[in-house]
Amino acid sequence: MKNYKQKRKDMLKKAGADAVFGAKAFGAFGNRGMVREIVYPRDGYALLNVVKMLKDEKPVVLGGATDVLFPDGVYDGAIISTARLKDVCFCGDRVYCQAGARLPEVVAKCARRGLSGFEQLSGIPGSVGGAIAMNAGAFGREIAELLTRVDAVTSDGIAVALSPCALDAGYRHTSVAEKGLTVTGAEFRLTTSSSREIEDSIREYGKRRRDSQPQGKSLGSVFKRADGVSAGYYIERAGLKGIKTGGAEISSKHANFIVNNGGATAADFIYLADKAKNAVKEKFGIELEYEVIFLKG
Ligand SMILES: Cc1cc2nc3c(=O)[nH]c(=O)nc-3n(C[C@H](O)[C@H](O)[C@H](O)COP(=O)(O)OP(=O)(O)OC[C@H]3O[C@@H](n4cnc5c(N)ncnc54)[C@H](O)[C@@H]3O)c2cc1C
Repeated sequence: MKNYKQKRKDMLKKAGADAVFGAKAFGAFGNRGMVREIVYPRDGYALLNVVKMLKDEKPVVLGGATDVLFPDGVYDGAIISTARLKDVCFCGDRVYCQAGARLPEVVAKCARRGLSGFEQLSGIPGSVGGAIAMNAGAFGREIAELLTRVDAVTSDGIAVALSPCALDAGYRHTSVAEKGLTVTGAEFRLTTSSSREIEDSIREYGKRRRDSQPQGKSLGSVFKRADGVSAGYYIERAGLKGIKTGGAEISSKHANFIVNNGGATAADFIYLADKAKNAVKEKFGIELEYEVIFLKG
């Protein structure tokens, strides 16, 4: 085994990446779990190499894992992390971000430059790549609206540049996963404004978020809106707000959030999420769709 791991590390090193075996799961829900292997490409070219090299293993590409629930035991596959691809550079009213750049940092940098557009997205904790894959959005703004170009790698390791319309972006959806693409970076076009106005606006959206959403460990919204109505509305009316199991709770502040109050497991999360899904189906005849992604052990 030692020999296998060393060989694999050497192979990945040549491709420009580092591998960590037996790593701790790093999902935002904070349940304890392990991952067989996490691969960290050091730049965009290494990401391309690694996707190509590992394609038969069907690795999962993750940014912040702020929308992903890790299993409680060991996730027995390879994860490619974009955490080291964090460059952000500016050219006039455009900003180019590598896939692993975190949205809050991108938003703050844009604000300092007097570039407006991202303010509503400032409280979304994930990476640019993850946000594009999910078409993340908040307060009426979706990330796809700001895109001018997406750079990606196909599952065969071919670099492609896509225009935003090739993503078929809709509510919390793009074709990134269906097409088997890994986002390596993206360009956004913003508008010029005063840094002060942008920062005021970021603070205002932050306050609205804090007033309506729990602050503990969570994966954000568990379910997508149903016909434009927050899933939390239905879960609350099904009487499930505040219910607990193990260390997890359907938030008493916002029923579409499941929070980890300490020691929660993936099984606790799934128990509460299934309970909410079934109760809403039974009471309202509405089939809620998960926004959260489940990694299967
Ligand atoms: C407290 C909290 C608040 C949140 N609020 C919001 C909100 O207001 N609006 C909202 O939309 N979301 C929200 N989220 C959910 C989450 O932050 C977003 O969906 C975010 O965009 C996910 O980014 P990530 O890097 O964490 O993606 P991950 O969780 O790492 O991955 C999510 C999906 O994207 C894929 N992916 C990741 N990186 C890439 C890549 N480079 N190429 C291709 N596919 C990739 C993964 O394979 C996976 O399928 C919230 C989450 C939390 C914890």
